[in-house]
Amino acid sequence: MDRARYDQFVATFFDADPKAVTGIFQEFLDSMKAQQALPPGHYLSQNYETAQANPEIHLLPGNLKDARDAVFPYFWGTDGWTSPLHLENVRGPANAASLIGAIACLLKNPNLCTDTYSQRSNELEVKAVTALANLIFYHTIDPWGVFTIGGTISNLYGARIGVEKVVPGAMRNGLGGVRVAGVCSDAAHYCAATVAGWLGLGTDNLHHIPTDRNMAMRLDALADKLDELYRRGDKVAFVIATFGSTDAFGVDDVAGIRTVIDEAAKRHGQPPPQLHADAAVGWALCFLNEYDTAANPFKIAADTLPVIDRAKHLAKGLRVADSVTIDFHKTGRGHYPSSAFIVNRRDDLRHLARTTTSMPYFCDAIDRRDPALFTLETSRPGIGPYTVMASLNGIGLHGWQMLIGRALELAQYLKAKLAKLDYCRVLNADTPGMSVLWWVLPKGRNAKDIFAKLEAGELPPEDIQRYTAEVRRLFNKREYSLDPAVDARLSYTTDIGYRPHGHLIPGWKAVFFHPMTDEAVIDRLVWGIEEMI
Ligand SMILES: *Cc1c(COP(=O)(O)O)cnc(C)c1O
Repeated sequence: MDRARYDQFVATFFDADPKAVTGIFQEFLDSMKAQQALPPGHYLSQNYETAQANPEIHLLPGNLKDARDAVFPYFWGTDGWTSPLHLENVRGPANAASLIGAIACLLKNPNLCTDTYSQRSNELEVKAVTALANLIFYHTIDPWGVFTIGGTISNLYGARIGVEKVVPGAMRNGLGGVRVAGVCSDAAHYCAATVAGWLGLGTDNLHHIPTDRNMAMRLDALADKLDELYRRGDKVAFVIATFGSTDAFGVDDVAGIRTVIDEAAKRHGQPPPQLHADAAVGWALCFLNEYDTAANPFKIAADTLPVIDRAKHLAKGLRVADSVTIDFHKTGRGHYPSSAFIVNRRDDLRHLARTTTSMPYFCDAIDRRDPALFTLETSRPGIGPYTVMASLNGIGLHGWQMLIGRALELAQYLKAKLAKLDYCRVLNADTPGMSVLWWVLPKGRNAKDIFAKLEAGELPPEDIQRYTAEVRRLFNKREYSLDPAVDARLSYTTDIGYRPHGHLIPGWKAVFFHPMTDEAVIDRLVWGIEEMI
């Protein structure tokens, strides 16, 4: 080996000069700032044409600026969602406390698989998981959990425990021809089907329960479905309760579901299914659990206080869930990936456990400290614990209450404005969340009457088709004509999760996620609708 050449590039890349690193970091920050002056969207068009044709690797060792240059066009060409005009989805700028946590994590690059590989970073995970568990379960006896790479995977953990509960030994023996079912609502995230498929249940064995007009699972329909499944001999492994649906922010009655599934299981002499709450989006409502709406210390708008009281009531249901998914990278405004899977009772994790004999290179693992004994993943990033603890304690409970309270306030503001327009119909008026779904029909139509007729089953299918086509056409019309510098970006959903008489209902969608979005953005949005129609 030519040691002189070797030592030179090794020093550049493995003993990096802090000045070189911070200098490049500063350049990235400066370019972020510069982009904030531009309208949101595509800053640099994509070039997929040759992305595969030219995957060249440089020949000679370079320096950190070469590393910068290798990614910069893609960095510049990516919208950091820093504009308050972004209302499309549960997506926004990550908070700066999370950034500090993430940087710390990247510098040490811990691997959370075992304590030996990550020392105090593993301890931080225990702390972060417990802090989140206390927030949602309240006085829970023995919670435990881990960070996963996303809500989908956290839901997979919950469902997997359920499979083991109803088909003991399945981890080893497989399902052995037993038909195993899972249940969720029509408003559940599509990843429930991913989970059913990947766990080998088959997506056909995931059963969707209709929702009421608040996009909450209908308990009567759940009871009927469970009776039907048990009667035909299915094992029901899990029920996923959605706590905040992705589009409409529908919140299932988790406590009610608990009662229904326990009673049904008892009636049929079966072990109760795992009750997993998918709170990927809705968990952040729990910051308001102790908000005193009577004293209202943060002067949240009066029409929003009943929403908070409703959220507080619904959040109590989480205490009886067996496990829960929390996406901090969503409503926590944290960095990806930081999803937490948390069990109410640590003992439930034994259903996932491996023995150390099956993991030769972790043979010294200790289950108190070494998550690798039960995690799906082997190597696991520390981003979750670092971003969560930095965000929770940087922003503080009161900061979080203001952040969530403000988002609810803006959603109410838009709902109230739209409710005044005859040709609009808010579709999720009573869901306690930060998203608004609505119909816009041509002027002259009464959207409220039309929707009421649809719910009553009085609209012929061709009328439904015509109206929903109008909703879509007007959405497209707005898209074509909007001014990217001042008009909010909305999105469109083809299925709000409530399906009266089995009809899929589309809607325009706005999510109040960016902390700097304000009433002026909403005023302009509503003005634009009035002008356009
Ligand atoms: C986003 C979302 C998921 C999936 O989470 P990822 O972190 O994107 O994998 C699951 N459930 C709900 C309700 C969601 O909104």
